[in-house]
Amino acid sequence: MRGELGRIVGAEHVLDAPPGSPYNRDCTRRRGLEGRADAVVLPGSAQEVAALLGWCYAHDVPLVPRGGGTGLTGGAVPVQGGVVCSLERLRAIRELEPALWRMLPEAGVSTRDVQRLARENGLFFGPDPGASEQSQIGGNVATNAGGPHGLKYGVTGAWVAGLEVVLAPGELVEVGGWAGKDVAGYDLKSLLVGSEGTLGVITAVRLRLLPAPEEALALVVFLGSRRAGCEGMGALLGSGLRPSVLDFMDAETLRMLSPSYPGEVPAGAGFGLIVEVDGTRSDVQEQRGALLEALAGAALAVQEPDDGQALWRWRDGVNGVLTGVRGAKVSEDVVFPRERLNEGLERFERMAGAHGLPSCAFGHGGEGNVHATVLVDPASERELQEAEAVGEELYALVVELGGSVAGEHGVGWLKGGRLESQWSPRAVDLHEQIKRAFDPKGLLNPGKKLARYPARSPVTSN
Ligand SMILES: Cc1cc2nc3c(=O)[nH]c(=O)nc-3n(C[C@H](O)[C@H](O)[C@H](O)COP(=O)(O)OP(=O)(O)OC[C@H]3O[C@@H](n4cnc5c(N)ncnc54)[C@H](O)[C@@H]3O)c2cc1C
Repeated sequence: MRGELGRIVGAEHVLDAPPGSPYNRDCTRRRGLEGRADAVVLPGSAQEVAALLGWCYAHDVPLVPRGGGTGLTGGAVPVQGGVVCSLERLRAIRELEPALWRMLPEAGVSTRDVQRLARENGLFFGPDPGASEQSQIGGNVATNAGGPHGLKYGVTGAWVAGLEVVLAPGELVEVGGWAGKDVAGYDLKSLLVGSEGTLGVITAVRLRLLPAPEEALALVVFLGSRRAGCEGMGALLGSGLRPSVLDFMDAETLRMLSPSYPGEVPAGAGFGLIVEVDGTRSDVQEQRGALLEALAGAALAVQEPDDGQALWRWRDGVNGVLTGVRGAKVSEDVVFPRERLNEGLERFERMAGAHGLPSCAFGHGGEGNVHATVLVDPASERELQEAEAVGEELYALVVELGGSVAGEHGVGWLKGGRLESQWSPRAVDLHEQIKRAFDPKGLLNPGKKLARYPARSPVTSN
């Protein structure tokens, strides 16, 4: 196999993946998930990706696309072996047209570089998933990644005008494009967005950018309880304000993060919001006033941190801090309808308590997107099993309340089968037919994003 793959990409770009190799894992490694790639291939061009998929299709070998490996559901893990196709060498910016508000990066460009290049050219790229230095724009499109700014600016798919993609059995195809409007066909581009490497391999992305807002102002709002916090968010959005960020932390998250908070958490705080408004200087001041008015009476305190970057560093540190408390955490990415967020959070806390596990929740409150977290001792098999049981109950609750089993981290391997409880049987059938239409041999990232796959979450270590 190695010799033939070497003829496609050059022998030096074909790697082994012994046990423990980073190419066998992604950020689910803390949950014990590891695959076993037969080979790792690093193509240097879209044409080489096409030739590689052609070879895989001719030889019935699975192909697992890999971006930065920051996924949280095991999407890039070669659980069924095969070839890992890492896009890391596709790093060119093929086009950057500030006056036309657009950029065409190849799939392997890091999210951070896309954001930076946009900023340096007076433009703005809204999606801001938390591992942006390592994640790639191709991976962001493949997972339809979100982040704090999704509330106002939409998740990654909202910024995609078109894709260059390798489809089975090895053909380089363009879907979408720069046309300002295009309703001519079924929206193939949107099918590929969020397809998690199961329909094709993305090699380049046409991104439509926006002029950068002149100013952004982040405020931290502390409220006395979860109910007050959820009602405060409702009042804020109900008043007609459109913040660029509306993130929340529940009481336990706040408690664990308060030592690193760049300010002082007021006594009695039972819920925290990070609210950012942006626009022209005068817009920002106007929104600030409206925000204070909407929350008057509900808020214990509203703070305006001097150093906005320190605030975001604090927010981005949440995963590390929570993991450190007991050695491991199991965090599920789910969505509750916003008007049922309080009920969802309250019932989740009770579920975890009934299983004897400490819990906390944080996330993108404006979208009802919750990272529901239980803290576990990784050495306790019992606790890991209880965490699994909490997850099962949580996913049932999400469906009962009319939410979603996946807000932004995708389905990957860990959430296989969960969709079946959320969608109608006919919709699940269509999901599977779409997969077959794109990938008749089932070789593109097999076992991932499956609607009917038996659910399991191998949580075995920290
Ligand atoms: C600390 C931390 C914070 C995070 N915060 C957020 C957040 O705020 N919001 C959020 O949405 N996510 C977040 N994530 C999850 C993760 O960063 C995103 O899912 C990200 O989009 C994955 O990109 P990646 O390049 O690392 O993809 P990978 O992990 O390599 O792959 C993810 C999936 O996409 C597929 N894929 C990758 N590249 C391609 C390609 N070129 N063509 C086709 N398929 C491809 C893979 O097969 C896999 O199924 C976070 C992760 C970490 C570790």
